[in-house]
Amino acid sequence: MFQWYRSWHRLRQGDGSVVEATVEREAADDDRRKAEAASTLPRYEGTLEGVPHVHTHKSCGSATLIDESAIRTYLTSPLRVEDQIYCAGCRDHFHAGEFTWDATSESVLAYLGRLRREHLRRVYHLRLADKPAGVIVLPAAAKALKLRAKALKWTKYYLSLKILLDGTFAVELVDIRHRVTETVVDAAVPIIVERDQLSRMQGIVVDHFPGYGDYDLVITRLHG
Ligand SMILES: [Zn+2]
Repeated sequence: MFQWYRSWHRLRQGDGSVVEATVEREAADDDRRKAEAASTLPRYEGTLEGVPHVHTHKSCGSATLIDESAIRTYLTSPLRVEDQIYCAGCRDHFHAGEFTWDATSESVLAYLGRLRREHLRRVYHLRLADKPAGVIVLPAAAKALKLRAKALKWTKYYLSLKILLDGTFAVELVDIRHRVTETVVDAAVPIIVERDQLSRMQGIVVDHFPGYGDYDLVITRLHG
């Protein structure tokens, strides 16, 4: 979850004016754990001139202002920010594809995807197309899964990846005894996906983020 948005936003009213709004929602344990992990990430120190910071949720029309520390965090660690982001109007999280930046009209998902591709090229020296296909499992994630499988004494294992209704991912490490009826996607760790989700499993990155989500993995998209 993109929980940094939670307590930092203003809401734009129908007449275009922006008011402060507060959110009293209790953070779930899972959200709290993720927020704690995110707070350890380095922050971008440069200027934020020209960096978009207000996005509008297409379905409700509310604008949400993002906190500067959140912007500075995802500028340095775009692979460690999930695609679920907060709408101050709905007081809930939705997929980044449902938001556009006010300043540029670009989809927030397209923007985050671009930051992530640039990050992979710069930090991992990957030669990436602008719309990469398949699933990329980064070395740290592959290593963490290998260690976990080893602890379970599994010699052959798969990462099961499923897209849920809200656009988030469910992950599970499964061994060879699992009846593999789904399609296997070739990556650093073989991935099994349901056949009818195969076309949506394109341009996905699996990164290791200790203390974060299930299996310490964070899964994001490189394009819409
Ligand atoms: Zn909304």
